[in-house]
Amino acid sequence: MPKPMVIVGGGIAGLTLGIGLRQHGVPVTLWEAGHYPRHRVCGEFISGRGQEVLARIGLLGLLGNAGICLARTAAFFERSTSIPPRPLPQPGLCISRFVLDRVLAGEFQRIGGELEAGERWHGHEAPGVVHASGRRIEPKVDGYRWIGLKAHASNVFPLADMELHFLSSGYVGVCRLPGNIFNVCGLFRSETSIPDLATHWQQWLRGSEGSPLHDRLVHARFEESSFCTVAGLDTRGRKPEAQGECRIGDALTMIPPMTGNGMSMALESAELALGPLVKYSRGELEWPQACRKIARACNGRFSRRLLWARWLQQIAFQPLPRRSLMRLAGRFEPLSRALFAWTR
Ligand SMILES: Cc1cc2nc3c(=O)[nH]c(=O)nc-3n(C[C@H](O)[C@H](O)[C@H](O)COP(=O)(O)OP(=O)(O)OC[C@H]3O[C@@H](n4cnc5c(N)ncnc54)[C@H](O)[C@@H]3O)c2cc1C
Repeated sequence: MPKPMVIVGGGIAGLTLGIGLRQHGVPVTLWEAGHYPRHRVCGEFISGRGQEVLARIGLLGLLGNAGICLARTAAFFERSTSIPPRPLPQPGLCISRFVLDRVLAGEFQRIGGELEAGERWHGHEAPGVVHASGRRIEPKVDGYRWIGLKAHASNVFPLADMELHFLSSGYVGVCRLPGNIFNVCGLFRSETSIPDLATHWQQWLRGSEGSPLHDRLVHARFEESSFCTVAGLDTRGRKPEAQGECRIGDALTMIPPMTGNGMSMALESAELALGPLVKYSRGELEWPQACRKIARACNGRFSRRLLWARWLQQIAFQPLPRRSLMRLAGRFEPLSRALFAWTR
């Protein structure tokens, strides 16, 4: 009899791992504090090797039927510089998290996974428990509170399928979704708390008057029910080996959102964990060995891209270096292609 596994967290990482384990006949119980479907703060742009994971686990067709579209072009803007629309080196898969998480949860249950939705896991650390519980929360990082906002909107007229707009206090991505809906998602930092965020979120997402972002969204009709927010984001490094437990997705480490690679890392880490966990379940590996193998595989796969992503995130918040890098990347396409590749 295979040993049962417990997964804490039913986001992309936990659900993908749960589906993979069920495909190998492993009994899995997955605890998810929330309910499906639900909106999540996310740019909803899947870019990088995670696309291949979706294909290998056999989920692409399912997601295609549920509603997916491709982002083929990207453009970047800040106050005085822009990189006009260019083909992305690899098109991004765009899908609403409202749909994505629901489809993955449905598939997990269909193939025999036990889903405890609306239930927070309060168990003890033990062999067979995998943490896919998402980002760790830090009220302040480097003296700033980091806040994510997202809402869907219609009546948006971008120049590219995916646009990234740098502002003085953060950045906002505008990404095309199926059905002429656009995801508007931003990461902001503030030294103080923002008490009026819940009432003034549209102002934050629309950017200041005269900015290219404001031009895109001037007639936007936001879907209020899709608005969501997260606070306490922390994209600093975290070494997997130091943890002594099994972690995947954002629970392992969070890549700066501007790369659009977080979901890919969630998918990839789930796939990297799959082999050792199946072996553990079959009694072919001890738990500490399985955890070490997963940590090593994740470290090997992600450390370079995390370094580049964190460097880019720092540049994004310094106007002069940001402008210089944008000018360079605008002029030399190989540089923008290289930055794309190094963060994937
Ligand atoms: C502003 C912003 C923009 C982003 N844009 C993009 C983008 O365009 N492209 C991209 O690829 N990525 C993007 N990301 C990152 C992406 O959203 C995450 O990397 C991805 O959601 C991580 O998936 P996960 O499964 O690890 O965690 P999550 O999706 O956060 O799931 C974790 C789950 O665990 C549950 N949970 C936590 N604790 C418990 C518990 N004790 N018991 C039970 N359940 C628990 C939570 O309810 C949650 O559902 C963005 C992130 C932000 C903040």
